[in-house]
Order: sequence, then structure tokens, then C-alpha cells
Amino acid sequence: AAEEGFDVEEVEGAIEEAGHGPLPVLAVVGRPNVGKSTLVNRIIGRREAVVEDKPGVTRDRVTYEAEWAGRRFKVVDTGGWEQDVLGIDASVAAQAEFAIEAADACLFVVDATVGATDTDEAVVRLLRRAGKPVVLAANKVDGQSGEADAATLWSLGLGEPFPVSSLHGRGTGDLLDEVLRKLPEAPEQRFGSAVGGPRRIALIGRPNVGKSSLLNKVANEDRVVVNELAGTTRDPVDELIELGGVTWKFVDTAGIRKKVHLQSGADYYASLRTAAAIEKAEVAVILIDTTDKISVQDQRIITMAVESGRAIVIAYNKWDELDEERRYYLEREIETEMQQVTWAPRVNVSAKTGRHMEKLVPAIETALAGWETRVPTGRLNAFLGEIVAANPHPIRGGKQPRILFGTQAGTKPPRFVLFASGFLEAGYRRFIERRLREEFGFDGTPIHISVRVRE
Ligand code: GDP
Ligand code: GDP
Repeated sequence: AAEEGFDVEEVEGAIEEAGHGPLPVLAVVGRPNVGKSTLVNRIIGRREAVVEDKPGVTRDRVTYEAEWAGRRFKVVDTGGWEQDVLGIDASVAAQAEFAIEAADACLFVVDATVGATDTDEAVVRLLRRAGKPVVLAANKVDGQSGEADAATLWSLGLGEPFPVSSLHGRGTGDLLDEVLRKLPEAPEQRFGSAVGGPRRIALIGRPNVGKSSLLNKVANEDRVVVNELAGTTRDPVDELIELGGVTWKFVDTAGIRKKVHLQSGADYYASLRTAAAIEKAEVAVILIDTTDKISVQDQRIITMAVESGRAIVIAYNKWDELDEERRYYLEREIETEMQQVTWAPRVNVSAKTGRHMEKLVPAIETALAGWETRVPTGRLNAFLGEIVAANPHPIRGGKQPRILFGTQAGTKPPRFVLFASGFLEAGYRRFIERRLREEFGFDGTPIHISVRVRE
């Protein structure tokens, strides 16, 4: 490496940075109006990201990436809930429950100017039961005089309250330092031990695509409820289902079966649920209703799964309903609307008739295999050498950037770092990704490629 112009430390640093697996997740929970959204904005350092929620406004983004003191993590914002839908207690419990289940640590926000309420106490019980690390933010402490209010929150029994003003930023640095102390480096806890244990599948898709029908079809009578959370709402439930001689864990299946009948806030609720299920899973089976046009909502769900770096299978459901005309248009739609997942295994199924159910497991296995693929450095560089020789980067400004060497920094999903003598254009990067896929078969997995340019 040194003779190519990169020093060893630089190379090792780049590999370590690119190699991170799934990021740890911080869930921000608390009553409505305590300032959760304001705090999330502060943490992610963007003003426009979380806009105020008006009834009926679709809010599908609930997970954000954040960085503090050089560490990256995800923030799940549960601030979009409306208190009058189910009554305060029920709504807070329901929203908090998924978020807590999918999190590695929780940031519990209390309004210090109000003090601890009964609802706050109820959230404390949920947090206790979940057993996740908790950091307590005493919010709306805009000045010195509010510190005493914050101190009364010791009574919640969660340890030291951190006085902050989400609005002005006061105290948020200390709060985030504490968050990092409590947040594990990697989300191992949620994933259990690295070896053994059933693989985790999330069945996702917009309402009425057939998720619960599919779950029922694959489960038959073999369904075993393995983990019923002893919460008030009893929402997230993981189930063990044996398929093809292998036991799989389907995560958050309660949400699939029991429809949540809500008027306002239902979209937000569904998004939170989808995000939580994806976080808990290794592979997402995304259902598309073929009797309907592929929609923006379908694409948003796909984007969530791709951005989370999960293995992906696309199940085109209700195949029994298709006539030749619809089928023709469907294939055109797939070509134009499913560009972001052209690499995902595809199964054309019917949850009603059971058509092609036997193809689901092989597709899931293919996707997981791609997700875990590791290409040895020697083989990767031999391959890079060949494609660069056959298809060099176009000359720009009299110079020709070259890929000097590369390495795979991580798996789940595969992450590559390429070291280059100059900036590689987006088109060339896409070409490299396509060729990597052709050569090494990353079916069913997003792949990340980062490029380091020699100074
Ligand atoms: P959420 O429902 O918990 O997400 O709460 P929001 O973030 O929407 O905040 C509710 C209200 O509290 C808004 O009017 C915010 O401007 C206000 N607020 C949030 N944080 C602070 C703070 O640190 N100090 C003060 N004074 N007001 C705040
Ligand atoms: P979910 O909201 O995604 O869980 O969807 P459901 O499983 O509740 O299905 C929504 C509707 O589509 C129900 O009326 C199902 O009977 C129907 N449905 C689901 N799968 C199929 C299928 O493969 N073929 C047909 N014709 N209908 C289906």
C-alpha cells in the first residue's frame, strides 16, 4: 500500500470506517409535547428533517442517522404521535413499545417544567421491563433556574436526569456523551449471539398487500409464539416458524395480524412499525400487491430496507388475480419503478392459493448468502485489475484516475473500500458495482462502495 501513495494508517482507518455493520439504535421516547422532535432535530443536526406533524400529513421517515464524537448511530424518533387518538397512555405505550423493542438504548424525554406525570411513570415501567439502557433527558431547562426542576426527576428511579434545552442546545453535548456511554458499539444485543439462533425475517409492505395472509400460509399449524412482550399493548411478537426444515424467526408479527384501526396518525404508526421490524431483522421480504400499481409508498418501504442495509427479497403477491393485460403492465412497472432493487431475488406468489410458496425460502437463503459474502482481497484485486485494464476510467482534465487496490471491509451487507489515484465519477462507480455483482453474485443484498482518493 505504501508505495501506492497511501500510508498504512490511512488504509487501516478507511477500512475500519467502512467496515461497520448495522449501526446501534437509539429510541427517543416520551409523552407528546415534551420536546422529542425538537431534541431529535438537535441530535441529527438538521432543522428540516423533522417537521411538525399536522394531522393527516404522511410522515414516513422515523429513522435518522446521527454522529457524535466520531461515532455513528441511528435515532428512532417517536415524536410524531398524536395524543388524542387512543388517549395519552395507550398511544404513548404503543409507540414506545416498538421503538424500545428495536433499540439498543433509549433516550427518555421528560418535560422538567411539568415534572413527572403518571404517563411518565408508565413509560418508566415499559423501559424497566424492556431492560434496555436508558438515559433520562430533563427537557426545557432553558436556563440555570430550571436545574432544580430537573433534579426532582431523580424520583423516576432512572438515575441522573440530564438537564437540557432542546430548543437552545443547552446541555445536549453532555447528554449525548452519556448516550454514547450507554449505547453499545454494535447492535449485538438485539441480534443475539453471532452463531446459531434462527435467522430473522421481517415481512413488510403497505397495508393490504397480503402480509398476514402470507404469514398464515407459510405458518400452517406450526406457528409458535416465542416472545410475547408482557406489555400493556402486547404488540411486538416474534414467531418461530419452520420452513424447509429450518426454523426462522418472523419479527413483529402482531402488527401484521392485528390491523391497527386508526384514522389520523396511521401512516406514521405503520412507518414506525416497519422501521422497527427492519431494524430487528436480517432479511426483509417486501410484498408488492400486483393487482395495484406499484406506488410511491411501496418505494419508500423499499428505500427503508435498502438504507438499513438488510438482505431483501421481493414477493409479488396476488399472482392468482393477474390477467394477461395487467401482467404486461406490471412487468413495465417493475422495469421502471423497481430500479433500486434490480438485484433482489423475485418470487411471484399467491398467499391465497399457495402458488410458489416453496420458492420463498430458497430466495431468502440466496439473499442472506449474498448479504454475508466475503470476497478475499487477492481475488478482489485480481478482478479489479482486469476490469480496470479492460475499461479504464475516462480521462478528465488530462488525468486518468486509476483504482489502485481495494478490499472488502465488512459484510451484512458487503462493504468495499477502493483506493484510487483520483476522483471516480458516479457512472464509473455504478459500473464497478455492476461488475462486482456479476462476478461475485451479491443477489439480494445492497452493497456499499466507498472510494478513498490519494491526496
Ligand atoms: P414532541 O411532541 O415530544 O415531539 O415535542 P416537540 O418537539 O414537538 O415540542 C413541543 C413544544 O415544546 C414545541 O412548542 C417546542 O418548541 C417546545 N420545546 C421543545 N423543546 C423545548 C425546550 O428545550 N425549551 C422550551 N422552552 N420549549 C421547548
Ligand atoms: P396485510 O394488510 O398486508 O396483512 O394484507 P392481508 O393479508 O390482510 O390481505 C389483504 C387482502 O388481500 C385480504 O382480503 C386478503 O384475502 C387478500 N389477499 C392476500 N393475499 C392474496 C392473494 O395472494 N391473492 C388474492 N386474490 N387475494 C389476496
